[in-house]
Amino acid sequence: MVYGKINMHDFLLAKEIIDELNAIMAEKKIVKIKKISLEIGMVSLAHDEYPEHAEDISVENLQFGLKSIAKNTPFENVEFMIKKIVGNDWRIASIETE
Ligand SMILES: [Zn+2]
Repeated sequence: MVYGKINMHDFLLAKEIIDELNAIMAEKKIVKIKKISLEIGMVSLAHDEYPEHAEDISVENLQFGLKSIAKNTPFENVEFMIKKIVGNDWRIASIETE
């Protein structure tokens, strides 16, 4: 599969974020999300033939990945606020519901 110039970590992280948000929405019975704040550091992943390795995340590519995956889902009009942090981790800092 080809995602243009997008880095695999950016795209896989976008998928992971949406999966996590789906789980949170189900768990907390949230119907609509308006805005999500994310804090993103380096992200370690194993993919294709490579063992787990960390790569820096591009905010621009992550935005693109999130928008692509969110299309035609309840996340279509969600505003994703992405803040880069130092470290090898990422987290959802806050979720603003309507
Ligand atoms: Zn990689």
